[in-house]
Amino acid sequence: MNALVYGGDGTPVLEKRPVPQILAATDAIVKMVKGTICGTDLHILKGDLSTCTPGRILGHEGTGIVHAIGANVTTFKAGDRVIISCITSCLSCEFCRRGLLSHCVHGGWILGHRIDGTQAEYVRIPHADGSLHHLISGASEASQTMCSDVLPTSYECGVLSGRVGPGSSVAIVGGGPIGLGILLTAQLFSPSMLFMITRDQNRLKTAATLGATHCITFGSTAAEEVMALTGGRGVDTVIEAAGVPGTFELCQELVAVGGTIANVGVHGCKVDLHLDKLWHKNITIATSLVDTSSTPMLLKLMDAGKIQIDTLITHTFNFKNMAEAYSTFESAAKYKAIKVIIDFVAENGVH
Ligand SMILES: [Zn+2]
Repeated sequence: MNALVYGGDGTPVLEKRPVPQILAATDAIVKMVKGTICGTDLHILKGDLSTCTPGRILGHEGTGIVHAIGANVTTFKAGDRVIISCITSCLSCEFCRRGLLSHCVHGGWILGHRIDGTQAEYVRIPHADGSLHHLISGASEASQTMCSDVLPTSYECGVLSGRVGPGSSVAIVGGGPIGLGILLTAQLFSPSMLFMITRDQNRLKTAATLGATHCITFGSTAAEEVMALTGGRGVDTVIEAAGVPGTFELCQELVAVGGTIANVGVHGCKVDLHLDKLWHKNITIATSLVDTSSTPMLLKLMDAGKIQIDTLITHTFNFKNMAEAYSTFESAAKYKAIKVIIDFVAENGVH
């Protein structure tokens, strides 16, 4: 089969690999239908994650068709159309039982990281019963790939960890797919002010159509602008969705007394924490890795048409053009790209 591999020198490499086999009774083999590229894949290519070694097949998102199952898989059978969760969970270890599926001792975030991932024609999914979801009929298959990682991460690590409440103010620093996913799911809690702060003007325009009440260009005057709009009070929930020091610095400037900073971004280097300015402000700082425990609920909302995420899908590429898909996603501002869908089966109609 064809597979996209972390080569170790910054660019992904297309390689021929054997089709994966069932290794444990709880495994499923999934034939990929739709996939996507995550900002985390770009972090891996840059060498930010030392736990991912060269030779690894990339990718932790997508939809597909169950090709084969191990003897102990009970919820899925060959032929089922499924969504692959970015988190693999056994549902029985100590962490899984505490709801921390992201820290499952037999899984967690392993796909496209510690084991081969979804940017290949077939993928082996360990603990299939806890790591796959049935596709729903009420949304496109491409938009359901957003339930692998983007939507649960946005909702759990941003909205829930950030304790967004009715009437509260929310600032999202970072306008990528996750930032925009937070913008969509924060509205489930009816905040009164919803700031989107990013450098990318195209993404600010998209944010304005998706419910942002204020669109602010990231830069030296951003904090001043937000402070003026909140009467000098600051923002109740500030969500970091970029993973660089400058955005976390801005979050610390924006947070209001009694507020919450939720970090969602993947950080590859250290960031200063200004406790000398924050120690007396009664704030909470949350960090989290997605558990994907909200995925069934998010799928219900999507099925009912209550979350419309199609706007985030800006480009579709055939799997054989993965190099172009990566270069488009890496230069998102230039190509006005938000989320790039990979089509593993289409021969025509996509470039
Ligand atoms: Zn577990």
